[in-house]
Amino acid sequence: MLRNKGMSVSVSMLASGSRGNCAVVSSASTKILVDAGISGRETFRRMKAIGDDPHTLSAILITHEHSDHVYGLATLAKKLRIPIFMTGATHQAWARAMRNQNGVKPQLEKLERFESGHRFHVGDIEVKPFTIPHDAVDPVGFTFRAQGIKIGFATDLGYIPVSVRDHLRGCDVLVMESNHDVEMLRVGPYPWSVKQRVMSRVGHLSNLALADFFSNDYDNSATFVVLAHLSEQNNHPEIARREAERALACRGNLFCNRLLLAAQAEALEPIRL
Ligand SMILES: [Zn+2]
Ligand SMILES: [Zn+2]
Repeated sequence: MLRNKGMSVSVSMLASGSRGNCAVVSSASTKILVDAGISGRETFRRMKAIGDDPHTLSAILITHEHSDHVYGLATLAKKLRIPIFMTGATHQAWARAMRNQNGVKPQLEKLERFESGHRFHVGDIEVKPFTIPHDAVDPVGFTFRAQGIKIGFATDLGYIPVSVRDHLRGCDVLVMESNHDVEMLRVGPYPWSVKQRVMSRVGHLSNLALADFFSNDYDNSATFVVLAHLSEQNNHPEIARREAERALACRGNLFCNRLLLAAQAEALEPIRL
Protein backbone atom coordinates (compact mmCIF):
# COMPACT_ATOMS: atom_id res chain seq x y z
CA MET A 1 0.00 0.00 0.00
CA LEU A 2 1.26 3.48 -0.80
CA ARG A 3 1.98 5.67 2.15
CA ASN A 4 -0.62 8.33 2.67
CA LYS A 5 1.02 11.70 3.16
CA GLY A 6 -2.08 13.15 4.74
CA MET A 7 -0.54 13.16 8.23
CA SER A 8 -3.54 11.32 9.53
CA VAL A 9 -1.95 8.48 11.46
CA SER A 10 -0.92 9.41 14.99
CA VAL A 11 0.26 7.94 18.28
CA SER A 12 -0.36 9.71 21.59
CA MET A 13 1.28 8.42 24.75
CA LEU A 14 -1.18 9.51 27.46
CA ALA A 15 0.58 7.80 30.39
CA SER A 16 3.39 5.31 30.79
CA GLY A 17 4.91 3.61 33.83
CA SER A 18 4.02 1.36 36.75
CA ARG A 19 1.28 3.78 37.91
CA GLY A 20 -0.68 3.52 34.68
CA ASN A 21 -0.36 2.97 30.95
CA CYS A 22 -2.57 4.38 28.23
CA ALA A 23 -2.02 5.44 24.59
CA VAL A 24 -4.08 6.39 21.56
CA VAL A 25 -3.43 5.08 18.03
CA SER A 26 -5.42 6.90 15.35
CA SER A 27 -5.98 6.69 11.63
CA ALA A 28 -8.13 9.10 9.61
CA SER A 29 -11.30 7.25 10.60
CA THR A 30 -10.48 5.03 13.60
CA LYS A 31 -9.17 5.72 17.09
CA ILE A 32 -7.95 2.98 19.45
CA LEU A 33 -7.15 3.32 23.14
CA VAL A 34 -4.28 0.95 23.94
CA ASP A 35 -4.67 -0.06 27.60
CA ALA A 36 -6.76 1.77 30.20
CA GLY A 37 -4.36 1.99 33.12
CA ILE A 38 -5.27 5.44 34.41
CA SER A 39 -8.68 6.49 35.74
CA GLY A 40 -11.49 7.25 33.33
CA ARG A 41 -11.49 10.88 34.41
CA GLU A 42 -7.73 11.22 33.91
CA THR A 43 -7.94 9.53 30.49
CA PHE A 44 -10.55 12.10 29.44
CA ARG A 45 -8.48 14.96 30.88
CA ARG A 46 -5.30 13.92 29.09
CA MET A 47 -7.02 13.33 25.75
CA LYS A 48 -8.60 16.77 25.95
CA ALA A 49 -5.23 18.28 26.93
CA ILE A 50 -3.75 17.13 23.61
CA GLY A 51 -6.80 18.34 21.67
CA ASP A 52 -8.47 14.96 21.32
CA ASP A 53 -12.08 13.99 22.04
CA PRO A 54 -12.56 10.78 24.10
CA HIS A 55 -16.03 10.36 22.62
CA THR A 56 -14.48 9.73 19.21
CA LEU A 57 -12.70 6.57 20.44
CA SER A 58 -13.65 3.47 18.40
CA ALA A 59 -12.41 0.73 20.76
CA ILE A 60 -10.22 -0.13 23.74
CA LEU A 61 -7.51 -2.83 23.45
CA ILE A 62 -5.97 -4.43 26.53
CA THR A 63 -2.48 -5.97 26.62
CA HIS A 64 -2.83 -7.81 29.98
CA GLU A 65 -4.69 -7.74 33.29
CA HIS A 66 -2.17 -5.96 35.55
CA SER A 67 -3.81 -2.97 37.22
CA ASP A 68 -1.45 -0.45 35.59
CA HIS A 69 -3.11 -1.48 32.30
CA VAL A 70 -6.78 -1.91 33.32
CA TYR A 71 -7.37 0.47 36.25
CA GLY A 72 -9.80 2.70 34.32
CA LEU A 73 -11.32 0.00 32.12
CA ALA A 74 -14.67 -0.56 33.87
CA THR A 75 -15.39 3.18 34.04
CA LEU A 76 -14.35 3.84 30.44
CA ALA A 77 -16.37 0.88 29.13
CA LYS A 78 -19.46 2.17 30.92
CA LYS A 79 -18.98 5.77 29.82
CA LEU A 80 -18.03 5.17 26.20
CA ARG A 81 -19.95 1.95 25.36
CA ILE A 82 -17.40 0.99 22.72
CA PRO A 83 -16.00 -2.49 22.00
CA ILE A 84 -13.36 -3.75 24.44
CA PHE A 85 -10.84 -6.15 22.91
CA MET A 86 -8.82 -8.60 25.00
CA THR A 87 -7.97 -12.28 25.05
CA GLY A 88 -10.39 -14.68 26.77
CA ALA A 89 -7.88 -15.51 29.51
CA THR A 90 -7.11 -11.85 30.19
CA HIS A 91 -10.84 -11.11 30.41
CA GLN A 92 -11.35 -13.91 32.94
CA ALA A 93 -8.42 -12.74 35.06
CA TRP A 94 -9.68 -9.15 34.97
CA ALA A 95 -13.25 -10.17 35.86
CA ARG A 96 -11.99 -12.33 38.76
CA ALA A 97 -9.90 -9.47 40.16
CA MET A 98 -12.83 -7.05 39.87
CA ARG A 99 -15.19 -9.50 41.61
CA ASN A 100 -12.73 -10.02 44.46
CA GLN A 101 -12.46 -6.26 44.89
CA ASN A 102 -16.14 -5.32 44.80
CA GLY A 103 -18.01 -8.59 45.20
CA VAL A 104 -19.78 -8.02 41.89
CA LYS A 105 -19.03 -9.58 38.56
CA PRO A 106 -18.24 -6.80 36.10
CA GLN A 107 -20.16 -6.69 32.84
CA LEU A 108 -18.64 -5.55 29.60
CA GLU A 109 -21.40 -4.62 27.20
CA LYS A 110 -19.26 -5.06 24.09
CA LEU A 111 -16.52 -7.59 24.79
CA GLU A 112 -14.53 -8.77 21.76
CA ARG A 113 -12.12 -11.63 22.36
CA PHE A 114 -9.01 -11.97 20.24
CA GLU A 115 -6.27 -14.59 20.17
CA SER A 116 -2.59 -13.85 20.24
CA GLY A 117 -1.10 -14.36 16.78
CA HIS A 118 -4.40 -13.73 14.97
CA ARG A 119 -4.82 -10.39 13.26
CA PHE A 120 -8.10 -8.48 13.26
CA HIS A 121 -9.42 -5.10 12.21
CA VAL A 122 -10.79 -2.19 14.15
CA GLY A 123 -12.21 0.11 11.48
CA ASP A 124 -9.38 0.68 9.00
CA ILE A 125 -6.62 -0.26 11.47
CA GLU A 126 -5.21 -3.78 11.23
CA VAL A 127 -4.18 -5.11 14.63
CA LYS A 128 -1.76 -7.99 15.19
CA PRO A 129 -1.45 -9.16 18.80
CA PHE A 130 1.65 -11.20 19.67
CA THR A 131 2.70 -13.05 22.82
CA ILE A 132 5.26 -11.42 25.12
CA PRO A 133 7.10 -13.03 28.07
CA HIS A 134 5.56 -11.45 31.20
CA ASP A 135 3.98 -12.75 34.41
CA ALA A 136 0.34 -12.25 33.40
CA VAL A 137 -2.10 -14.93 32.14
CA ASP A 138 -1.94 -14.12 28.41
CA PRO A 139 0.07 -10.94 27.82
CA VAL A 140 0.43 -9.45 24.34
CA GLY A 141 2.14 -6.68 22.45
CA PHE A 142 0.56 -5.16 19.35
CA THR A 143 1.45 -3.98 15.91
CA PHE A 144 -0.96 -1.66 14.11
CA ARG A 145 -1.10 -0.98 10.39
CA ALA A 146 -3.02 1.85 8.79
CA GLN A 147 -2.47 3.84 5.61
CA GLY A 148 0.88 2.16 4.97
CA ILE A 149 2.21 3.03 8.44
CA LYS A 150 3.23 0.36 10.97
CA ILE A 151 3.29 1.00 14.71
CA GLY A 152 4.69 -1.45 17.28
CA PHE A 153 4.05 -1.63 21.04
CA ALA A 154 6.19 -3.90 23.23
CA THR A 155 6.15 -3.08 26.93
CA ASP A 156 5.98 -5.37 29.99
CA LEU A 157 8.33 -8.09 28.79
CA GLY A 158 11.18 -9.82 30.57
CA TYR A 159 13.26 -10.16 27.41
CA ILE A 160 12.82 -9.87 23.65
CA PRO A 161 12.34 -13.31 22.08
CA VAL A 162 13.06 -13.85 18.38
CA SER A 163 9.31 -13.96 17.65
CA VAL A 164 8.85 -10.46 19.10
CA ARG A 165 11.84 -9.15 17.11
CA ASP A 166 10.18 -10.44 13.96
CA HIS A 167 6.90 -8.71 14.75
CA LEU A 168 8.70 -5.41 15.33
CA ARG A 169 10.41 -5.31 11.94
CA GLY A 170 9.47 -2.44 9.66
CA CYS A 171 7.80 -0.25 12.29
CA ASP A 172 7.56 3.49 11.60
CA VAL A 173 6.85 4.10 15.29
CA LEU A 174 8.32 1.78 17.88
CA VAL A 175 7.14 1.99 21.51
CA MET A 176 9.56 -0.06 23.62
CA GLU A 177 9.87 -0.74 27.31
CA SER A 178 12.98 0.71 28.98
CA ASN A 179 11.97 -0.16 32.52
CA HIS A 180 15.00 -0.07 34.76
CA ASP A 181 18.68 0.50 35.14
CA VAL A 182 19.99 -2.84 36.38
CA GLU A 183 22.36 -1.24 38.90
CA MET A 184 19.71 1.14 40.29
CA LEU A 185 17.34 -1.80 40.71
CA ARG A 186 20.01 -3.91 42.39
CA VAL A 187 20.87 -1.30 45.03
CA GLY A 188 17.37 0.24 45.21
CA PRO A 189 14.67 -0.03 47.89
CA TYR A 190 12.60 -2.92 46.49
CA PRO A 191 12.47 -6.17 48.52
CA TRP A 192 14.62 -8.88 46.98
CA SER A 193 11.60 -10.92 45.85
CA VAL A 194 10.31 -7.96 43.83
CA LYS A 195 13.76 -7.27 42.39
CA GLN A 196 13.92 -10.89 41.28
CA ARG A 197 10.50 -10.64 39.66
CA VAL A 198 11.37 -7.46 37.75
CA MET A 199 14.70 -8.89 36.54
CA SER A 200 13.27 -12.29 35.58
CA ARG A 201 12.51 -13.55 32.07
CA VAL A 202 8.83 -12.71 32.70
CA GLY A 203 9.46 -9.34 34.36
CA HIS A 204 10.41 -6.04 32.77
CA LEU A 205 12.94 -4.98 30.14
CA SER A 206 16.06 -3.15 31.36
CA ASN A 207 17.73 -0.22 29.60
CA LEU A 208 20.59 -2.58 28.87
CA ALA A 209 18.42 -5.30 27.30
CA LEU A 210 16.74 -2.68 25.12
CA ALA A 211 20.13 -1.23 24.12
CA ASP A 212 21.22 -4.73 23.17
CA PHE A 213 18.15 -5.04 20.92
CA PHE A 214 18.90 -1.66 19.31
CA SER A 215 22.56 -2.59 18.72
CA ASN A 216 22.04 -6.10 17.41
CA ASP A 217 18.53 -6.73 16.13
CA TYR A 218 16.75 -3.48 15.41
CA ASP A 219 16.23 -2.86 11.69
CA ASN A 220 16.52 0.92 11.85
CA SER A 221 13.08 1.39 10.32
CA ALA A 222 11.40 3.73 12.79
CA THR A 223 11.04 7.47 12.34
CA PHE A 224 10.10 7.68 16.01
CA VAL A 225 11.32 5.50 18.87
CA VAL A 226 9.47 5.91 22.17
CA LEU A 227 10.98 4.68 25.44
CA ALA A 228 8.11 3.57 27.69
CA HIS A 229 7.19 2.07 31.07
CA LEU A 230 10.19 3.69 32.80
CA SER A 231 10.39 2.86 36.50
CA GLU A 232 10.26 5.92 38.72
CA GLN A 233 12.20 4.08 41.47
CA ASN A 234 14.76 2.21 39.43
CA ASN A 235 15.45 4.36 36.41
CA HIS A 236 16.12 7.92 35.40
CA PRO A 237 14.94 9.39 32.09
CA GLU A 238 18.42 10.68 31.29
CA ILE A 239 20.03 7.30 31.91
CA ALA A 240 17.42 5.54 29.74
CA ARG A 241 17.89 8.13 26.99
CA ARG A 242 21.68 7.92 27.11
CA GLU A 243 21.70 4.12 26.92
CA ALA A 244 19.28 4.10 23.99
CA GLU A 245 21.11 6.89 22.14
CA ARG A 246 24.41 5.12 22.58
CA ALA A 247 22.99 1.90 21.15
CA LEU A 248 21.21 3.64 18.27
CA ALA A 249 24.30 5.72 17.48
CA CYS A 250 26.28 2.48 17.14
CA ARG A 251 24.13 1.77 14.13
CA GLY A 252 24.49 5.31 12.79
CA ASN A 253 20.89 5.97 13.69
CA LEU A 254 21.19 8.90 16.00
CA PHE A 255 20.10 11.52 13.51
CA CYS A 256 17.54 9.61 11.52
CA ASN A 257 15.58 8.59 14.57
CA ARG A 258 13.58 10.74 16.86
CA LEU A 259 13.86 9.37 20.35
CA LEU A 260 11.05 10.30 22.76
CA LEU A 261 10.42 9.38 26.38
CA ALA A 262 6.86 8.62 27.46
CA ALA A 263 6.01 10.02 30.89
CA GLN A 264 3.90 8.94 33.83
CA ALA A 265 2.58 12.35 34.84
CA GLU A 266 1.54 13.95 31.54
CA ALA A 267 0.66 13.07 27.96
CA LEU A 268 3.27 13.55 25.22
CA GLU A 269 2.48 15.70 22.22
CA PRO A 270 0.94 13.38 19.59
CA ILE A 271 3.38 11.78 17.14
CA ARG A 272 1.97 12.50 13.67
CA LEU A 273 2.95 10.57 10.57
ZN1 LIG B 1 2.48 -5.99 33.63
ZN1 LIG C 1 2.82 -2.56 33.22
